[in-house]
Amino acid sequence: MAPWGYSKDDGPANWYKECPIASTGERQSPVDLKASEAKHDSKLKPVVVSYPAFTDAKLLNNGHSVQFQPGAGHQSEVCGGPLATKYKFEQFHFHWGGNDSEGSEHRVNGKMYPAELHLVHWNCESANYSTFKDAVGSGDPNGLCVLGFFLKVGKENTGLKPITDLFPKVKAGGSSVPIPDKYDMRAALPQALTDYYTYDGSLTTPPLAECVKWIVFKEPIEVSAAQMAAFRALDDASGKPMVGNYRPPCPLHHRTVATSFN
Ligand SMILES: [Zn+2]
Repeated sequence: MAPWGYSKDDGPANWYKECPIASTGERQSPVDLKASEAKHDSKLKPVVVSYPAFTDAKLLNNGHSVQFQPGAGHQSEVCGGPLATKYKFEQFHFHWGGNDSEGSEHRVNGKMYPAELHLVHWNCESANYSTFKDAVGSGDPNGLCVLGFFLKVGKENTGLKPITDLFPKVKAGGSSVPIPDKYDMRAALPQALTDYYTYDGSLTTPPLAECVKWIVFKEPIEVSAAQMAAFRALDDASGKPMVGNYRPPCPLHHRTVATSFN
């Protein structure tokens, strides 16, 4: 895979050169979640996350995003909602903009939020693979589940504070830092996981594999202006400010977006 990024020369409009599925795929992500195209499904139950506090986790600036990686042996998983099986937690990361008018990957009726959190999981009950990497490569259309949360600027998010406080230590692309103590990710998220959009899509970064059951929550989570500024103070792999690391929406094609709410 050639280096990719979010600038004019290596950004989303060029990804098809290395990843033809970027333009030929019919279930690419993200998408604009339009009320006029979404269908309420009364059978959709709340999403159930089990995220015990993490130990031995680390925070990584991978040059494209800032990413949380759990220590080995963790038991975090998600089930319920539109999911037929359990999915094991792999990592979380963010996408954000240079100002509050842009940054999220999914949009709601054309509107962007300043940032979007992605909690990535893989189907740990499949007989065909036993790692995240193999789930992506397996061709299983339900290999991954990503929970998406919009971020908006408001109150400080004390649940995310242990993470955003570490951002200055991973300012440089390629740097990482251990997360001291236990980290309770559940505290960063809303209590109720009842109202969401769900659809079949893809990874939003190369290789753009079409293996993701997307669950995007309706209610944004709040972060303070200082926390939002901490994202924008990170640098990318070439030492430039890491901002605008989001892919624009892709055509919905024949897909339907289902909502758990009316
Ligand atoms: Zn993402």
